[in-house]
Amino acid sequence: MQHEGRRPKVLLVGWDGVRDDTARRLILPALTALADSGRWWGTTLPDITVAPTVTAVGWSTILTGVWPDQHGVMGNEEELNRLHRYPELLTTAYCERPTLNTYGAASALIFGTTFGPGPLFGPGVRTVDWVDRREYPGKFTETDPVIQDAAERQLSTGDPDLAFVYLGETDQIAHASGVGAEYEQAIARQDERLSRLIDSIRSRPDFADEEWLVMVTTDHGHLDEGGHGGGSWQERQSFIVAGVLGADGKPSADGVWADEAENIDIAPTALTHLGIPVPERLPGKSLR
Ligand SMILES: [Zn+2]
Repeated sequence: MQHEGRRPKVLLVGWDGVRDDTARRLILPALTALADSGRWWGTTLPDITVAPTVTAVGWSTILTGVWPDQHGVMGNEEELNRLHRYPELLTTAYCERPTLNTYGAASALIFGTTFGPGPLFGPGVRTVDWVDRREYPGKFTETDPVIQDAAERQLSTGDPDLAFVYLGETDQIAHASGVGAEYEQAIARQDERLSRLIDSIRSRPDFADEEWLVMVTTDHGHLDEGGHGGGSWQERQSFIVAGVLGADGKPSADGVWADEAENIDIAPTALTHLGIPVPERLPGKSLR
């Protein structure tokens, strides 16, 4: 339920390659608190003939709100697609409401370059914090903190209405060493970053007059030994956590949440919270 007079705002955080079962087992403080204020849905990706468990496909689906049969991204490779007809959420929102401040922060190539099916960030992402991870020897382990710092700055001192922050370290570590202790530590670091993003929102001078919907999701799972792209349940698992930050800065339990969720529901959920009509081309539903 939206409070009278409070400006609706949305933060969507993307963690690459985080397994739902691992994240639940770790009992992450920030993610668990967010889920307590809303809901945590485990989601299962469709058969890999419909939606391969690879990064470019997963984020295309999450951000456009349509499955690959519509957006046309079926792999990480360079290919023709229909992202111009099914742009990411920020561009969709901006086209519907040109006064909207949209913000994207990422260091994965698909978002900001023509690598593979990219760029996923369309012309409606009005403020971008972008670094090219190829210029950093440690890749996401080095670029996630850069993106994080930029996002904290933007969320605390800027005025984004709809923000997407992508962090990729978890996927990199799963590829390198499987889903063991190092992976769990990387997920815990993502959770600490989530906590700081929420603290940045809470520090906003107008926070009491704003109603922030915060969502966290992932593009695919991982095999126990690391790696994805296949159709195992480990690779097809994903999740959505959504919650609304209360005016006192603590998560609030108001609102009614859907029982079932799919990753295509994230975009309609964000648009509905902002009061923007969901375009007919999007088959998903608002989760709230
Ligand atoms: Zn990925």
